[in-house]
Amino acid sequence: MTAAMAATTEAVLTVDLAAIVANWRLLTARHGAPCAGVVKADAYGLGAARVATALAAAGCRDFFVATLGEGLALRAALGPGPRIGVLGGFPPGADGDAALLPVLNSLAAALAHQGQGILHLDTGMARLGLPPEEWGALPPGFAPALLMTHLACADQPGHLMNALQAERFAAARARFPGVPASLANSSGIFLGPDFRSDLARPGSALYGINPLPGQPNPMAQALRLEAPVLQVRQVAPGTPVGYGAAWVAARPSRVATVAAGYADGYPRALSGKAEARFAGRPVPLIGRVSMDLTTFDVTDHPGIAPGAMLTLIGDGITPDDLGALAGTIGYEILTALGARYRRQYRAG
Ligand SMILES: *Cc1c(COP(=O)(O)O)cnc(C)c1O
Repeated sequence: MTAAMAATTEAVLTVDLAAIVANWRLLTARHGAPCAGVVKADAYGLGAARVATALAAAGCRDFFVATLGEGLALRAALGPGPRIGVLGGFPPGADGDAALLPVLNSLAAALAHQGQGILHLDTGMARLGLPPEEWGALPPGFAPALLMTHLACADQPGHLMNALQAERFAAARARFPGVPASLANSSGIFLGPDFRSDLARPGSALYGINPLPGQPNPMAQALRLEAPVLQVRQVAPGTPVGYGAAWVAARPSRVATVAAGYADGYPRALSGKAEARFAGRPVPLIGRVSMDLTTFDVTDHPGIAPGAMLTLIGDGITPDDLGALAGTIGYEILTALGARYRRQYRAG
């Protein structure tokens, strides 16, 4: 058995701001009208300040975050200028912050803020927003900065909910003449002219998630995750590897232990299923993903030694792919990306 320690022990997450800006431009062209940048949850894990600064420099004038705290942090990063909508609304008592626009998610919030914000009309999501039976309760002349609704099934182009929600939203817009409106998320932008509005709200597609599941992905990949090999060891046939002895060598094998695990957002559900890439070639994941470490079978890769970097995301492995293997979606892979990766940004 041989073992040697690597010099590099940190995994590296590289965010391609140029790809994110290119994706925003493509979405804007496809929408035929402006697009905001949805940068909630730290820009889906990629870094809201860096992403929003790059998008603002490219001409993006509107951003959305989930919480007041995210909004204040983003305002500090962006400075004055771009609008920042807070999707979750403001907590009671925080209504005086003119630098941010609350999304008014209930009749009570709409009345309390006297229309100073983004009015969220629920057209079929039943999550946040005023349901149709409350629309008539708003006072005449009620004029929010923006009307918005959110599509429940935009990633399923054939779903009947899409047309129903577009129809309900068109009826709602007629009640607020002159007020601009915001309809589509990433996938909604691809649903056609009935889903165009004054401002689309893409998030995931900016970051390379496929807005057209099952079809070729029109978006550029925006991140790369590489983790260093800490050790390579030679094991004899019959040798179990890792927790639960879940993988047992069937032949004389070389096993590489890599510095990334489920504490870094590399899901344990990928155990025995995923692969990495080395020099563009697939490297199978073996055994259980553990908290800080994951093992790969590098028997067929004599070039892999301690210090080599295996690509966990990139070179054809997408967050969508990992999501599918882990029984979730690419969105969750992105937002789970770990805090201890060394992060580097390619300029927008
Ligand atoms: C998260 C979110 C978006 C962005 O959705 P994507 O599918 O990531 O494009 C848009 N609008 C609302 C209300 C959201 O919560």
